[in-house]
Amino acid sequence: MEKIDWKNLSFGYIKTDYNVRCYYRNGKWGEIEVCSEETIPMHMAAVCLHYGQEAFEGMKAYRCPDGKVRVFRTEENAARMQSTARGLVMPEVPTEMFNAMIDRVVRLNERWIPPYESGATLYLRPLLIGTSAQVGVHPSEEYLFMIFVTPVGPYFKGGFATNPYVITRDYDRSAPLGTGCYKVGGNYAASLRANKWAHEQGYSCEFYLDAKEKKYIDECGAANFFGIKDNTYVTPKSTSILPSVTNKSLMQLAEDLGMKVERRQIPLEELETFEEAGACGTAAVISPIQRIDDPETGKSYVFSKDGKPGPVSTKLFNKLIAIQYGIEPDTHGWTRVVIE
Ligand SMILES: *Cc1c(COP(=O)(O)O)cnc(C)c1O
Repeated sequence: MEKIDWKNLSFGYIKTDYNVRCYYRNGKWGEIEVCSEETIPMHMAAVCLHYGQEAFEGMKAYRCPDGKVRVFRTEENAARMQSTARGLVMPEVPTEMFNAMIDRVVRLNERWIPPYESGATLYLRPLLIGTSAQVGVHPSEEYLFMIFVTPVGPYFKGGFATNPYVITRDYDRSAPLGTGCYKVGGNYAASLRANKWAHEQGYSCEFYLDAKEKKYIDECGAANFFGIKDNTYVTPKSTSILPSVTNKSLMQLAEDLGMKVERRQIPLEELETFEEAGACGTAAVISPIQRIDDPETGKSYVFSKDGKPGPVSTKLFNKLIAIQYGIEPDTHGWTRVVIE
């Protein structure tokens, strides 16, 4: 194996040794298969390609300072993928099978798990697709569930830092009764234009308001939003946001730290009152927000004058990372050792 510069890996793709696959045919899941091919042989009329019957997940495996390899709350990802499957009329992958395939693919690719010191991790990508050949719009008969892995570099190469966001009113990522609460490729396809626009303006990411009224905070790009004020962690309640496992964990940690936690609608103007704000998800854990600009009103909601992350975001970030890496006691039973 060529020497890899783990620290400078991007959030890209590099080939590893194996992926694991399981086929759903005749109404049931088959045996778990180990595969070293990177491609999926598929019919050109496969439902996933034309009608987007597809679900995915994202997690990481962490090489810890004690030498063990841990994964974080994968039952939550399994449950979310089951919810997505119901939302898109696909068969559910049972949690036991989901976890067994994770453990298998992590162990098979052990040499691709970056060392602790690098800050890099092994990214796990479960994918569920409808594979039947048909032109009519109805759910697929056959499915493929697979998990591939790829090492990814540390999210904050220059250390934990803040980023600028911009509110978009010209594009919606998802509709109130649409698929925003499911982890599907279609939501990402719908976000590409807004994301491109935000990048062209020099922003890190686009910021969405609720699609119906444009009055409330929804999501920051493909991450959940939280604001901090008066010792309270506030995060939006909305039917069009994806329930983030990271956000759920941060809410619990905030409570553990003696903070109040509120999950409710957040009117746009309330941004003015937050002392800190952040975007959260598996990739970065927390990506602290420097400011959110609103091109329509010319207003700029600033959360960090010096560009540094706030104390509460920093504390939550460090706490969650320490649990994921087995450094702090895992009092909630969130981690599972996959390699001793
Ligand atoms: C995956 C995802 C998130 C983050 O969820 P985590 O479980 O924390 O990784 C947030 N928003 C969207 C739209 C997502 O797809």
